[in-house]
This record gives sequence, C-alpha cells and structure tokens, in this order.
Amino acid sequence: MAIFRDTGVFEPHIITHEFVHRKGYLKELHAQALAYMALRNSEDPLLVQSARAERLHRQLRVVAGEDPEAYLSMLEHADLRDELHEAFEALSPHPGLYQSLVGRGMKELYDMRMKLTGQNGLSDYDRGFTNFLHTFRFSEGARQPAELAAV
Ligand SMILES: [Zn+2]
Repeated sequence: MAIFRDTGVFEPHIITHEFVHRKGYLKELHAQALAYMALRNSEDPLLVQSARAERLHRQLRVVAGEDPEAYLSMLEHADLRDELHEAFEALSPHPGLYQSLVGRGMKELYDMRMKLTGQNGLSDYDRGFTNFLHTFRFSEGARQPAELAAV
C-alpha cells in the first residue's frame, strides 16, 4: 500500500516495502518481513533505525489496538528521543470523527481485498509481521541451517 506523505524515520522501510512488491512479492506480510530484514541487516545506521522503528510501531499497534491512550502511554514508556517520539505520536490511532468514519470504511474495504487475495487482512501489517519476526527469532524450525541456504 503506497503512502504519499513524508514519513520521516519510517520512509526507508516504506520505500523498501514498495520495492519488495516491485520484485514480485505481492503479499503485505512478505513485503513487511523482507523490507525489515533487508534494512535490519544493512549495517547502515539510518536504515537499521528505520527497520527498528517500523517494528516498534507495529508492536505498539498490536498491543494498543485502536486505543489512542494505550498507544500514547506505551510510547511514553519507550523513552524515545524527541524527534522519534514525535514521529511515533503522529501515528497514534486518534483520528477525528470524520476521518474515523471514512478511515474505518476504507480499512474494511482494504481488509476485505487482502482476504480475497489469500492474506489474513490488515492484521498482516501489525500482528502478522510481529508474529513472523517472533517466530523467526525464537523458533528453531523457522530457519534453515546456513550450509543448506548456501546451496
Ligand atoms: Zn504493501
């Protein structure tokens, strides 16, 4: 899903996510995970920061859901630098009434479209992404041995 606005620290992840789609990975979970891994392992501090910001934002969204107070409370506890705090605050789930009604309708349509294309829906951006990274990190069966990967 393309977003046409300045997204600051999240920009590298969004651009990489879109490049992953351009390479033929059409599912959102795949684009999320591959973009994260590419940036996280890039050894470029700004790109690593963007990957970590995306992961933290998605984790906060999983735990807070659509509750803006819970999101902002957890954001306070994250103790981020001021400019990062502002970027995360801008993504807080607290739209006005009109935006909320329009946004909800668009979200439902997009969620339905994702499900029609064999995905789990919008949750793939947040919960699916978070679950994938957790499994990849902690499950012994989620990775193949390096010697097999090199073949
Ligand atoms: Zn996408």
